[in-house]
Amino acid sequence: MNILISEQDIQKRVRDIAADIHRDHPEGVHLIAVLKGAFVFLSDLARAMPGHCSIDFMAVSSYGKGSISSGQVQLLKDLDTGIEGRDVVIIEDIVDTGLTLTYLQDILRARSPRSLRTACLLSKPSRRLVDVTVDYVGFSIEDRFVVGYGLDYAEQHRNLPFIAALDNPK
Ligand code: 5GP
Repeated sequence: MNILISEQDIQKRVRDIAADIHRDHPEGVHLIAVLKGAFVFLSDLARAMPGHCSIDFMAVSSYGKGSISSGQVQLLKDLDTGIEGRDVVIIEDIVDTGLTLTYLQDILRARSPRSLRTACLLSKPSRRLVDVTVDYVGFSIEDRFVVGYGLDYAEQHRNLPFIAALDNPK
């Protein structure tokens, strides 16, 4: 396992993203985190956010237990509250092909929020299959399977405070 992004670098970038989100939503923001991978990012981001913020969660499954995208997105848990007329930011762990985020943006946009933006800690631009807008990107990385800071391999490694590359995930 190789450390790609250190805990210090992540914490600094998360504070910058929180400041950017606050600048764009000075009246407050509704953060929607995508379970499970985004729970650590959300937790640090929310605590770094000046001003008002509320929080909700969605859960989707796109990868099963392995590391190969199936391309099929399934909604496992919907929001607890409506988002009509609200300023919403989707909080995602990583954008890979972009299929999961496209699905989420489409279903949330259909619920008529006042604004809808997206923050992703990581992006793998070389893997994109669909063109999807990400307003706040933590780090762009090359095409490697990564774990840590909320991201798992078969439910392991989510608790690592850094991002590491797993070189031979099955
Ligand atoms: P996409 O639909 O963009 O292909 O995939 C998005 C989802 O796939 C992410 O939310 C994440 O759950 C998973 N994913 C994509 N790349 C990685 C990776 O390198 N490591 C881990 N652990 N999950 C990934």
